[in-house]
Amino acid sequence: MNEMSDPHKHIRPCPICRKPAVDRYAPFCSKRCGDVDLGRWLHGHYVVESDDSPAGEDGEN
Ligand SMILES: [Zn+2]
Repeated sequence: MNEMSDPHKHIRPCPICRKPAVDRYAPFCSKRCGDVDLGRWLHGHYVVESDDSPAGEDGEN
């Protein structure tokens, strides 16, 4: 009855390639997988809030 100290529970698989994540690049297994995740963001893979602000930001007068 030592579920709390199960070492396998501590390691999460890399969300990109499902390999065991490395502490240094957590939650990814490597820097590359981290970059892949970042790339998804840059390419708008994730749903983002509406980008058009309701006026007010551009008070450039
Ligand atoms: Zn990975």
